[in-house]
Amino acid sequence: MNKIDEVIKIESCPECHKTHSYKLEVTRCLIMGLMTENELLEKPSEKKLTRTFHCPNTQKDFEASFTLTETSMDRIEEVKVSGIVS
Ligand SMILES: [Zn+2]
Repeated sequence: MNKIDEVIKIESCPECHKTHSYKLEVTRCLIMGLMTENELLEKPSEKKLTRTFHCPNTQKDFEASFTLTETSMDRIEEVKVSGIVS
């Protein structure tokens, strides 16, 4: 397993209607081994997730959906909101 920080942007916060960027801690399960031809040709698929975010302007929590990409070689195991960037 492999933890990567990714940053996502919430374009319009439901609480204050401003843009916020959040840091996500994404745990991916890398599947090692020989790749088959199908896996080499595979396009990343989009995974839709919903998490709770904290608005720094109103101090309220809200839920938002976002998408991350994964492949069968690189599956998303867990996504945590680890902080706010701006
Ligand atoms: Zn906000």
